[in-house]
Amino acid sequence: MRSRVLRGILTATAVLMATRGDSAATGRTQVGAIPPQPLAISADTRLLVIAPHPDDEVLGAGGLMQHVNEAGGQVRVVYLTNGDAYRAGVRLEQRAVKISARDFRSYGRRRQKEARAALATLGLDPDATTFLSFPDQGLCRMTRTYWSDHSRPYRSPYTRLDRPPLDGLLVPDTEYRGEDLTVELAQLIGHYRPTLILVPRKEDQHPDHSAASFFLYDALAGVRRVFPEYTADVLNYIVHYKSWPFEDNRLSLPPPPGLSGGASGWISVPLTQDEMRAKRDALRRYRTQQHAMKWFLDGFVRSNEVFSRPAPTRVVLPLKHQSCS
Ligand SMILES: [Zn+2]
Repeated sequence: MRSRVLRGILTATAVLMATRGDSAATGRTQVGAIPPQPLAISADTRLLVIAPHPDDEVLGAGGLMQHVNEAGGQVRVVYLTNGDAYRAGVRLEQRAVKISARDFRSYGRRRQKEARAALATLGLDPDATTFLSFPDQGLCRMTRTYWSDHSRPYRSPYTRLDRPPLDGLLVPDTEYRGEDLTVELAQLIGHYRPTLILVPRKEDQHPDHSAASFFLYDALAGVRRVFPEYTADVLNYIVHYKSWPFEDNRLSLPPPPGLSGGASGWISVPLTQDEMRAKRDALRRYRTQQHAMKWFLDGFVRSNEVFSRPAPTRVVLPLKHQSCS
């Protein structure tokens, strides 16, 4: 166990020790079964949306976040990366062929600002955000080669960073390693205690998105070792899956064809006209993404959003047999 874990404080220490200690020792975690149940939103709902990149939270759940807010519940979004490795997008903003590490970092900071503006447009608190600043395009590799401190941390070939900036850290000495991201997530969940968590489905074809689900399940297992009574309803959303949702141009959003509805069938959350308008306006706050892929963003502004519940999931990290391509 690394020394910085021992320097944790109060409940953070317990969460950290259980998370790092168990998973480091055994590499095995178990996520308990959640019985099928309808999606219940109330003033008691504490929603945590896990977004691999700024904009995923609005694409997948811009409507559901509004529902929770309108019901008097709490909404928080944790961004795993700043989306700063999008070379084509950086080129568009810089209007230059040659771009530097500084340009990638600047692009990430801009996407952070856009994220806050987007949440405000949805009527949410723009400060209910946590930017973990892990490496865009690097999360999948952190579930494998760069999982533990047995190896050097991952270094982004885009930003040239191998750790998040100090001012955003929940845990000191965090570097670009998978177990460090798990600890950061466990820390956040242990403090915020969400009742409802949204995370991309593991079948999402963007490697960062698929990896996000593994990190959540690993973090939840760590939190439950410290707080055995803690439970949360986990729902999956999906952003990248073949040509979905663009193969269907109806106003309503069908589930991705060929994917099962998970543990309790597909859950469709209807959006009112006002909620759709707010979601579209929120996506317009992501100006960098509008420049690069407006057509993609617009494809998610529909009269409903779709979610599924994961089947009971057993996660073994680091992963041995997963392609990051
Ligand atoms: Zn994304």
